[in-house]
Amino acid sequence: MKLTAPHHPFPADAEDRRAVAPVICYPVDTLPPPDLALYARAREGMEKIGEVLVPPREARMFDAPAGTFFRIISVDGPQVGDLNLWNKHDLSERFYAGKTRALHGTHLSTGDRMWSSFPTLRPMATITDDTLDWYGFDDFGGSVHDVIGTRCDPYTAMLLSGAPYHQCCHSNLARALATQTGRDAREIEAHVHDVLNVFMCTGFTRDTQQYFMKATPVRPGDYLEFFAEIDLTGGLSACPGGACDDKHSSDTAPCHPLLVEMYRPVNDALAGWSSPPVNGYDRSHGV
Ligand SMILES: [Zn+2]
Repeated sequence: MKLTAPHHPFPADAEDRRAVAPVICYPVDTLPPPDLALYARAREGMEKIGEVLVPPREARMFDAPAGTFFRIISVDGPQVGDLNLWNKHDLSERFYAGKTRALHGTHLSTGDRMWSSFPTLRPMATITDDTLDWYGFDDFGGSVHDVIGTRCDPYTAMLLSGAPYHQCCHSNLARALATQTGRDAREIEAHVHDVLNVFMCTGFTRDTQQYFMKATPVRPGDYLEFFAEIDLTGGLSACPGGACDDKHSSDTAPCHPLLVEMYRPVNDALAGWSSPPVNGYDRSHGV
């Protein structure tokens, strides 16, 4: 947070310097665009192949093979979900929220991609449908499905409240990943990473630019849909914040389950399609 009373005087040209127009850091017009027409054809008549119900204040794992779709669906009541993605065959390739934010902005919707960590930096998933796409940005600067909020975690909760809380999304994901891999939660938690905050409504306050949340506009039946670009293992936590309209990192907020449904295209709708290759940089770093 910036000082409200700066320690240093304004230079004579302060306003001129502030008036310089911004430029986009990472213009995406050179990125190969996702073939949304192909995905639209692949969605037609797709058949459901599985589902996973994520209980409140818990996380569950699911698989989404390359070329399939998965949906995160609101059931029972307004609920926020924290999503992690890994390459099913290599946990070190995982969703990179920071670079996704730099490329696509603070909140994701249809046509945006979830990029993987270095050195692969490739699309792991593409968002193919979003029933909350009507929301846009509200008068507070808030929107849904952010890549700015990291995930609720017991370390920050301990810092701010002095009390342990084990049902944070970080710990929920760590327990789910520990169960799936048979490894200790303390060891496996290093693979838990910054999330896509599915359905969460967030932004930065206009005056202090602090991270805020407000009640999610999601309602039962709403969903966010993804196309798996590579073989994925996903982890989804039903956040202890529930609708994230008041508190998180406690048992006080009403919470609801989230449903993950998996679908596969029928016929040869994806003929000619293949997973994106890993990033082309040779990793020599100028040495
Ligand atoms: Zn959470």
